[in-house]
Amino acid sequence: MQAYMTQPRKRLLNYLHRHADETLSAAQISRDLPEISVSAVYRNLSALEQDGSVRKLAKNGSREVFYQYMKAEECRDHLHLSCKKCGKTFHMDEAETEALLDSIAQLEGFTVDRGDTVLYGVCERCAENKEKVE
Ligand SMILES: [Zn+2]
Ligand SMILES: [Zn+2]
Repeated sequence: MQAYMTQPRKRLLNYLHRHADETLSAAQISRDLPEISVSAVYRNLSALEQDGSVRKLAKNGSREVFYQYMKAEECRDHLHLSCKKCGKTFHMDEAETEALLDSIAQLEGFTVDRGDTVLYGVCERCAENKEKVE
């Protein structure tokens, strides 16, 4: 075992990287990483949130906070769509992001911080399979 692997932060990052498109609760993460204490999971998640490596998300009907790993630099250049039913995150095309933010800038004179913005809604699949989603 390499020494660096014992660092909770590295482990957590590796884990988050493997689950990049999922939204994960802290409880889920600590269940999957029993070698990291729950308090260390929370501590590291909030540190990662502060440096922009993870983002906090909300889901319908849940008071629990979910986390999603931001794929480093590339995710700071486009908007994200978050499905409130399945929790999946969709990465908007950069050109689409530009077009949308340009029109907001022109209509409202408002500059959207794309790296910080998540649009919540229902994804196509969840909209089509309403009856299957609880
Ligand atoms: Zn992204
Ligand atoms: Zn969905």
